Amino acid sequence: MRIARIAHPQGMSFARLEGDGPGATAAEIDGHPFAGVKLTGQRWALDDVRLLAPVIPSKIVCIGRNYAEHAEEQGAEVPSEPLLFLKPSTAVVGPGDPVTVPTVADDIEHEAEMAVVIGLPGARKVSREAARQAILGYTCANDVTARDLQKRDGQWTRAKGFDSFCPLGPWVETDLDTHDAEIRCEVNEEVRQLDSTKSMVFDPASIVAYISQVMTLLPGDVVLTGTPAGIGPMNAGDKVSISVAGIGTLTNQVVASE
Ligand code: MG
Repeated sequence: MRIARIAHPQGMSFARLEGDGPGATAAEIDGHPFAGVKLTGQRWALDDVRLLAPVIPSKIVCIGRNYAEHAEEQGAEVPSEPLLFLKPSTAVVGPGDPVTVPTVADDIEHEAEMAVVIGLPGARKVSREAARQAILGYTCANDVTARDLQKRDGQWTRAKGFDSFCPLGPWVETDLDTHDAEIRCEVNEEVRQLDSTKSMVFDPASIVAYISQVMTLLPGDVVLTGTPAGIGPMNAGDKVSISVAGIGTLTNQVVASE
């Protein structure tokens, strides 16, 4: 099932997306989708609504160096346990929203990632098996990074925390086999990153269980599972598309700071 958050003529709602192509519709979900999906009966043509970021997380927990070839291109070791950092919720933007290059950064890079979306009841000190039950579904993410600031600061909060530095979408796919899903980043239709989630060092359930020993994951929270090799520049004017097979494609335009 595809769950989106949409802006429609009457306001904003979560919606279940049905069908593909010209006949695709968005069926309004009553309230939120975290405790099971109940529809209101209201329905719009997909063309008549705008897709928003599929969730509004309380926090975004990210995993660094979860693909060996990416760790290598960064001149870093593969960590022996998941390497955690946070992005602020204010970094989230949706499909089609601009990513703004901050004036203080010169070297903005894309990181294509599969993102985990947490459902009810959340996850606190859960086992790997229970972590699987805590996952609502998966979406695409771009862990946009100001590489120059990341190197200069010695830690990553500023480099990864600017407004618009966490595009999410286009929707949450609840039925996805994450063992071998192709993950890809294209910049202006040129393939920059291409790998499979099978190259991950730590799998989604292990990551969620690990994070939950540290901090409670709430429904709607998002976990970014790391990027494959091939990171590279995003400049103003570029169109950046992140795809995970079985989910869809998240596209954002890069714009210069005003
Ligand atoms: Mg990353």
